[in-house]
Amino acid sequence: MKKILALLLAFIVVAMSSCTLFDGVDENGSSGPVSSSTQSSSGTGEHQHSFEEIVVAPVCNNRGYTRHICVCGYEFIDNFINDEGTHSYERGICKECGDVNHAEIVNLISTEAIKANVYVTTKYITKGFGFEVTTGVSNGSGVIIDYKDGEYYLLTNNHVVYSKEMSADSTGRKFYVTDYSGNEYQATLIEGSALANYDLALLKFSSGEQYTVLDVASKNAERGELVVSLGQPQGQPNTITMGEVLNYGRVTITDSDVTECNVSFDTLHHDAYINNGSSGGALVDSSLQLIGVNYAGTAHEQGKPSNSYSIPAEKILEYFDEIDYNYKPFNQGK
Ligand SMILES: [Zn+2]
Ligand SMILES: [Zn+2]
Repeated sequence: MKKILALLLAFIVVAMSSCTLFDGVDENGSSGPVSSSTQSSSGTGEHQHSFEEIVVAPVCNNRGYTRHICVCGYEFIDNFINDEGTHSYERGICKECGDVNHAEIVNLISTEAIKANVYVTTKYITKGFGFEVTTGVSNGSGVIIDYKDGEYYLLTNNHVVYSKEMSADSTGRKFYVTDYSGNEYQATLIEGSALANYDLALLKFSSGEQYTVLDVASKNAERGELVVSLGQPQGQPNTITMGEVLNYGRVTITDSDVTECNVSFDTLHHDAYINNGSSGGALVDSSLQLIGVNYAGTAHEQGKPSNSYSIPAEKILEYFDEIDYNYKPFNQGK
């Protein structure tokens, strides 16, 4: 929204009407295109309006207007539409006016962003003499956010890689990621990266495949902004759902131990559908930047809107500092 406003401001042309006096103007305002050049009519009234004209030129096929303001306070607006113009979309966003082409965005999400989506499996194991048994399994989603020295780094939730109950019944854990096309790899949990107070953890894995690396947005998304959720709700791979940022606020989690999830800051609330299995999955904006990591939601009921919660971008960046991870957006400058 700010982007659009800035663009409009850039198009504001202040045209002083070079002392042209008006009288008996059409108080209803006239419609249709007007130029910023002066109009004149001779007058006989007591006060002759002297207009300053502010022209907000239309970009693409948007509406523009001319605002005529007199020092006496009287003003009127002429609206006009540039129906000749068309949006010039670049990766789904008009570079002139900021308009979003949803079809192009959905196409980019399903062909590019989805290649950053992974399924995360944590196996709780117990070793004996010559044997190893799996005593528990937890699943969630993850998102690739970096690539260094032949290894991909992904974010997921702490509660996806750590369960207090399953840890108590086992002697160790193994981590696996399944990529968007179904290939499974063993992954390594970055030491010291599993933090309950952010409900985030960082894993890495090696693969010769080409994946998309999503950059973490430098700022939190604004209310009303389009969001797209990626993940595996109920185990459904590569699920894409859309919604918008509703709010920021605290959420109380009741079905998780504080050693698993202990988030006490304001989180991003949105209405893109998520469910069990979406935990740790990406929330992206229309420019395919990571604006959140899904971590909780209210139980989904048929016919009711979703309430989905994400760790917002600024908290993800703060988390990188916290774990001393030297993060630089991978795609920046490319
Ligand atoms: Zn006047
Ligand atoms: Zn446009």
